[in-house]
This record gives sequence, structure tokens and C-alpha cells, in this order.
Amino acid sequence: MTLRQQQTLARSATVTGMGFLTGADITLHFHPAPENTGITFQRLDLPGTEPIPATLDFVVPRQRRTAISKGGATVEMTEHVMAALAGLQIDNCLVQLDGPEPPGGDGSSLHCIQALLDAGLVTQSADRPLLVLEHECRVTGERDHSVISAGPVPRRTLVITFELDYGPRSPIRPQMLTFEFSPELFVTNFSFARTFILESEAAALKAQGYGSRITPGDLLIFGPNGPIGNELRAWDECVRHKILDCVGDFALLGCDLHGHFRAYRSGHALNHAICRQVAAAHRLIDDHSDEERHAA
Ligand SMILES: [Zn+2]
Repeated sequence: MTLRQQQTLARSATVTGMGFLTGADITLHFHPAPENTGITFQRLDLPGTEPIPATLDFVVPRQRRTAISKGGATVEMTEHVMAALAGLQIDNCLVQLDGPEPPGGDGSSLHCIQALLDAGLVTQSADRPLLVLEHECRVTGERDHSVISAGPVPRRTLVITFELDYGPRSPIRPQMLTFEFSPELFVTNFSFARTFILESEAAALKAQGYGSRITPGDLLIFGPNGPIGNELRAWDECVRHKILDCVGDFALLGCDLHGHFRAYRSGHALNHAICRQVAAAHRLIDDHSDEERHAA
């Protein structure tokens, strides 16, 4: 089994903009990081707090988003930044930001992808650990029939199939797509897909004090007849975004994956749960797994 070499950035990159939850103006820096340090997020507005590793161990429960927390510092909505990094196979990066969440951009990963591609990538000497799916894993949601499973795949890559069906009365049409991972395909077919929300859900969030600065132009807000004040970038932009979310959430495992993940209406909580189950049922192949490498 040939492992891929780890990558980091050639130089630092910056994105700025409004955080969707808090409405705060945020500056975020991506910095190169040494091999085997993974992705970490550091709150510059909380002096003295350490970088938070973007791994499953530091995920804290949230509705409709991924958040990580350590030592009194929390970063909300990490998933679209993580998707941009994982989509480009950037394994080591220190993400510093001056607020509780990254800039939301247009609700996709495009703003991060552009900054990261401008900075450029460098290959490092250490190998990227790999997890090869050998056992079937499966997690179901408590409500709404959501389910996600993971199992072996004949190809040596990560494959994600996502099916989204919110029923006949939803303004979001049923849609399904399979993504056989490559950075090129991620950038072209998925990185532009924006987060989406129903008008009623947006109103409920605003009532809770979230998203007060968001307007329909900032992301996809669905009314009864489709997106309000906005046009879809692809008819199936929603399922593309759900796959983008999976790429970002699966990166919390901190390794490459060879396996087929099949999701039906899955969200962040189920994505985390399947990753925990997959990690518990498998061993990582890394620099120290000489037997596996020679046997492969
Ligand atoms: Zn998302």
C-alpha cells in the first residue's frame, strides 16, 4: 500500500468576511505547519489559548454544524474550512482567527480554496496515515430516517454517495450524487456548492439570536418556490454541498480514507458518529506499519 506524502502550504494565506452565526467581521489566516501536526485552529482574540486540534476528540455537540473546543476556546462552523483543506489534501495547517467562527464567504468553500491555491502547496517528507475500510459500519439518526454507512471499496480512494430527499412538499428536490475523491474534482464540482437552509429554519435561528446579518444573497435560503433572491449554481447544488460537508467532517479522522461512504439525509452529528465507529473498528496504516506496507 503506497502512502501519500503529507502536504502543507507554501506560504500563509488570509480570508476575511462575516461570520454567519455571530455576524462578526472575522480575519482568518492559514499558516504552513510542520508534518504530523495536522489541522489546528487558534483563537487570536483569546490570548493564551492553545491551538485546538481539528479531530474527533475535540468535537463538541452542536445543531447543524461542526464545532471544536479545547481549554476554554471554541471554534464554530469549522466544516467548510476543513473541506477546503481536505479537498486540496492539505494535511498540516495552523488556522488562526480573531473570532469564534471562520468568515462564511458565500456559504461554500470557494473563498478558502482560492486563498489556499494562491498560497500554493508543498510536499513534506512524512507519509499521510491511511485508513482502509474493511468492515461495514453504519449509524442511523434518531428521527427523519437519516442513515450513513461505510464499507470497503474496490478502488483505492474515498467514495461518497449522498442521497437527499426531504419529501414531496419540500422546495428542495430529491437528489443523489457519487463523488470519487480527487482534489481536482473537489475543486471543480463541489467547492462552489453553498450551504442551504429553509426560510422557516432561518427565521428560527434569527429568533435564537443567530445569523442576524445574513441576507438571502449570502447563502441559499429556500422559500416555497426555491431559493430566495438567489439562483442555484447547479440544479443539485444542495447534495453537492452535503458531500462538501462530508469531506470536511471526515477530515476530523486525520488520515486518508479508502472506502465507500453512503449517506441518506445525513448531517454533521451522523458524520461524526460514523467516523468514530470507523476509527474504532480499524487500524491506521502509517510510517510504522511496516508489515502492512510490505504485505500489500
Ligand atoms: Zn455545510
